[in-house]
Amino acid sequence: MSNKYTKAVWTFVVAGATLAALWFGHAATERYYLQQLASQNQGTLGLVASGLQGSLLRYEPLTSLLADKTDVKLLLANPTEQNRVTTVSEQFRSIVQDIDASDIYVMNSSGVTLAASNHEEETSFVGRNFNFRPYFQKAVKGSAARYFALGTTSLKRGYYFASPVLSGASVIGVVVIKIGVEDIENTWRGPSTEIIVADTDGIIFMASRNEWLFKSLEPLSDRAVASIKASKRYPIDKLSELKNQNRSSGITGSPFTSVELAEGRETYLTNSRFMPDAGWTLHVMAPKALATGRTLTAMVVATLALLLIVLIVVYILQRRARLVRDIAAGARAQEQLELSVAERTNDLNLANENLTREVAERRLTEQRLISTQSELVQAGKLAVLGQMSAALSHELNQPLTAIKSYADNARAYLQRNKTEQASQNIEHISEMADRMAELGSHLRNFARKPKQAFDEIRLGDVVEGVKNIIGPRLKSEKAELNLGDFDDQLIVRAGRYRLQQVLLNLINNALDAMSNRENPVVSISSEVRGDEVAICVRDQGPGLDRDVSEQMFDPFFTTKGVNDGLGLGLSISYNIIQDFGGAIAAENHPDGGVVFTVSLKSASPVEEAAE
Ligand code: ADP
Repeated sequence: MSNKYTKAVWTFVVAGATLAALWFGHAATERYYLQQLASQNQGTLGLVASGLQGSLLRYEPLTSLLADKTDVKLLLANPTEQNRVTTVSEQFRSIVQDIDASDIYVMNSSGVTLAASNHEEETSFVGRNFNFRPYFQKAVKGSAARYFALGTTSLKRGYYFASPVLSGASVIGVVVIKIGVEDIENTWRGPSTEIIVADTDGIIFMASRNEWLFKSLEPLSDRAVASIKASKRYPIDKLSELKNQNRSSGITGSPFTSVELAEGRETYLTNSRFMPDAGWTLHVMAPKALATGRTLTAMVVATLALLLIVLIVVYILQRRARLVRDIAAGARAQEQLELSVAERTNDLNLANENLTREVAERRLTEQRLISTQSELVQAGKLAVLGQMSAALSHELNQPLTAIKSYADNARAYLQRNKTEQASQNIEHISEMADRMAELGSHLRNFARKPKQAFDEIRLGDVVEGVKNIIGPRLKSEKAELNLGDFDDQLIVRAGRYRLQQVLLNLINNALDAMSNRENPVVSISSEVRGDEVAICVRDQGPGLDRDVSEQMFDPFFTTKGVNDGLGLGLSISYNIIQDFGGAIAAENHPDGGVVFTVSLKSASPVEEAAE
């Protein structure tokens, strides 16, 4: 914020200083160029004045020489002699050509022209009287005269030199040389600077601009107008004011003159010089625009130079500021780097300490784990032993219960002498004993996984055995086995008692799942699927939770109470089916309950099943 403020202040200061410098510089530069213009004017003045002086002085002595000529004097003595008139006139004509004058003529003492260089021209002066001209009036009185006027006959401006022709002490005539001024004026015409010559009344009679001729620089007095009229010096109707306005330019002796031109008002820087011999004032006027233009050019150059300097200074300052900023940023970055290095070193040290501590802790934990593990192994061994004995008692309990009930029945039949029924029951008892022996071997199987032979067995034989074993439980729980969709004749490759054990386990689990229901029904169905036979055991229990279905085939996984389940049934079943080269899977039935599907390899029907 403050940086911005300082920048703005600096910008204002620099801009202000630049403007002030340009303002003062402009005034000084303009003054300088005006001064230069004034000295140029002075130079021009000097040249013009000496040029004029030179061309005028050339003719003055010539007039007195002509006035001394014998022919002239003789003519004045005998004015009627025509051949003298012609002779003198011819002489004058040849001199006019030699000296590049306008006219030469001689007048008698009354002002009548006797001979003239233009005697053969239409505008011949011969016979004309010019006694009104002041140069005549002065010369007739005995002194040489000079005069500027517009020719009354030729209507050409000219400068007149007059000398008296003396006969003894008296003046008998006047010789006049008139020279034109246009040639001189032509040398003045330039592209810009104007030159004018004004007489004592301020009337311009020579000028580089034609339209300024006969204009007066000041208002004319009545006396002056009367004298001009009398001498017929200038055409009265052409006289008017130039309406010039003078004001100071700040340069001494060089005022500004502003004049209304056809193309608009123009301001000149004027320098003037009075020529005392002729009574004339010379004015050299240079357009002020020359100085203004040069000033402008100089100012543009100066402004550009100043801008360049300002730009260079700004560039240097910015570079410096950037350098300072870069150095500061570098220092900051260095500081930051050092700080972050220190922080990281600190972090590393901390991490190192933590690691060392953690390693020590881990070592300690490891040692503890090793000792805990050995304790656990010991405890695990005991637990497995406990579970195994519980499982054994569970698995043996059911056939034992069945044997008990068959034995009771056999005794009752024997008491009633129904030996056939009694022997049937004893047969059942024998089967149960076989089954228990089989169970023992299963448990061994579970531990050692022995390879046992399996054969082609009829599903009907398997289910018959299952019904015998599960019958008492069904009876006591008022449960029912639904074998509506069960095909007795299908033959699979398996072990008879082991498949019975699997189905019994599935039926027992189904009955357990429906323990809250009255009259629970376990449906057993079978069907051929390709080269396999699928046996499905379905209940109407609560179904399987996701986490249960994921773990239920694991050994010792059970959701039942300690005395109700060991979690070995499904695990053993799984192993048995695997042994048969089949598969066992469970899924929730869409109408509720669980369906266990046992898939076994199908075989062609045989008379007697193995085992
Ligand atoms: P146990 O019957 O001793 O618990 P199992 O291996 O036979 O061991 O069964 C494991 C678990 O699988 C059971 O505890 C029970 O949670 C679940 N399970 C088995 N069959 C069913 C079923 N028909 N309905 C619901 N859950 C079942």
